[in-house]
Amino acid sequence: MRASNLYAPTLREVPAEAEIPSHKLMLRAGFIRKAAGGIYTYLPLAWRTLRKIERIIREEMDAAGGQEIAMPIMQPAELWKESGRWDVFGEEMFKLNDRHDREFCLGPTHEEIITDLIRNEVRSYKQLPLLLYQIQNKYRDEIRPRFGLMRGREFIMKDLYSFDKDEAGLDVSYKKMYDAYTKIFSRCGLVFRPVEADSGAIGGSNTHEFTALAKTGESQIAVCTKCDYAANVEKAELSAIKSGDETEQKLKKVATPGTKTIEAVIEYLHLSIEKSIKAVMFQDEKDRVIFAFIRGDHDVNDVKLQNAVGAVELHMAEKASITAFGGVPGFTGPIGLKKDTVIVIDQSVMNMKNACCGANEEGQHYINVNPQRDFGDVLVKDIRQIKDGDPCPHCGAPVQLTRGIEIGQVFKLGIKYSGSLRATFLDENGREKPFVMGCYGIGVSRTMAAAIEQYHDADGIIWPKAIAPYEAVIVAINAKDSAQMKLAEEIYTAMKKSGIDVLLDDRKERAGVKFKDADLIGYPVRITIGPKAVKENIIEVKVRKTGEVFNFDRNSYLPAVQKLLSQL
Ligand code: ATP
Ligand code: MG
Repeated sequence: MRASNLYAPTLREVPAEAEIPSHKLMLRAGFIRKAAGGIYTYLPLAWRTLRKIERIIREEMDAAGGQEIAMPIMQPAELWKESGRWDVFGEEMFKLNDRHDREFCLGPTHEEIITDLIRNEVRSYKQLPLLLYQIQNKYRDEIRPRFGLMRGREFIMKDLYSFDKDEAGLDVSYKKMYDAYTKIFSRCGLVFRPVEADSGAIGGSNTHEFTALAKTGESQIAVCTKCDYAANVEKAELSAIKSGDETEQKLKKVATPGTKTIEAVIEYLHLSIEKSIKAVMFQDEKDRVIFAFIRGDHDVNDVKLQNAVGAVELHMAEKASITAFGGVPGFTGPIGLKKDTVIVIDQSVMNMKNACCGANEEGQHYINVNPQRDFGDVLVKDIRQIKDGDPCPHCGAPVQLTRGIEIGQVFKLGIKYSGSLRATFLDENGREKPFVMGCYGIGVSRTMAAAIEQYHDADGIIWPKAIAPYEAVIVAINAKDSAQMKLAEEIYTAMKKSGIDVLLDDRKERAGVKFKDADLIGYPVRITIGPKAVKENIIEVKVRKTGEVFNFDRNSYLPAVQKLLSQL
């Protein structure tokens, strides 16, 4: 390809709405253009990178036994109503009607379509396992489409669905996909961690998110500083903190006038914050009032709490709901609350000795609270949000909180969809069984953006070689100089012949402009052809990532460039 023919319109100014590097750089370097909020056209450079990512995905999916198919983007509402998700997906689903007023949606995902396909076709355990995948556009009317390709409303996803005869089979399929994802993201050159994630209503250790580490990422993860444990903060387990040996003192109610915050209480009582128990009150989607109690310096993890009480959604409780169950805002404690509400105590609180908590009376607290002695029959759970320095649940070393981008997810569905859609097969004994399913997604367009978040500098993108739109660019310093152009063409032909994915910048622009564009677009290697090359047979090669410059001899540059590329 010649740059004079390449449609890659670069920009000097980027629109203010572009907040993160990948969004800014893809606009500036001529990779994408916006059609509407969260909807983009991929220009040639982006399309090349996407095709390379897809190729890596296809190779690994096929190697793991996957078969590629293409399901419809437009899906009938009936299937979604049958699975019960038509309403659950709600506003996030793009819905449309045909001329006969039949309802459809633009596929946000494909569990319904594929389960319907399989239930009508696959009858016997002998046809299993089955791993089917596709790569196509997905549609989700995200509340906040933002960050360019990171959170689009139309985006490219690879989705694979596995069908097995039992849980053991699903474990095998899951492992295959987990390993394939590890290979895919490694081959793409990304720095990532498979992290344990929350699987919501399904529960158990059923899902991992593959998270590319990046400070602009929307996910927060806890990563062990010693072993390879990593978990989404929503999921990260904590063990109960033990407390020292202390003689239990007699429970006592004391006046704490005007102390509405934990800080005020401990100051008033001259206690350390580790001796305080704070109350956080929520209401769930069924309007149940949930009283959660946690150590004063800890925070409640909403997702853990939701799972602990079987709620789908939590919001802060209203004052009237708190008082209805005996709570007094600012002075709420577990002792004396009405029992017909939901009271959850964090596991670490249960080990506290001689602590303080609200007494459910204005201006009153209890001191010398010993939860095991004083709280009676309560629900005790791990509801604490992990924080920097907390011990790793696997090895005990401190964890570090960091941010990342979810680029893929593997999920054991079990019989969630085969159950609701009645998709069954006959097992070895002729008994009807629901398929045991898994689903496995990769955000293809998001992966491209994640790579840029990880690899860029002030001058532009620094593509990992495997997914660079071109591996190398040849810049002729003066395209009007026929000797230079002749040599550049010669090198271009030789490099192409040797299998290098190379672009020739033959534009009649100033050398400075071409160098700037090469850095902005981020080709891993730049070959400069100027007077030095023509007169002294010196071919200058610059590595984008390190800035290193090599001078190779005109007669032996090709193996040298190949070697350089193989090391990138
Ligand atoms: P998120 O939590 O970021 O909304 P999700 O859990 O809803 O993502 P999945 O349903 O697991 O996403 O989809 C599989 C993959 O598709 C995700 O891991 C992510 O990489 C990608 N993806 C999801 N939503 C978007 C989006 N709006 N834009 C771009 N990629 C997306
Ligand atoms: Mg996900």
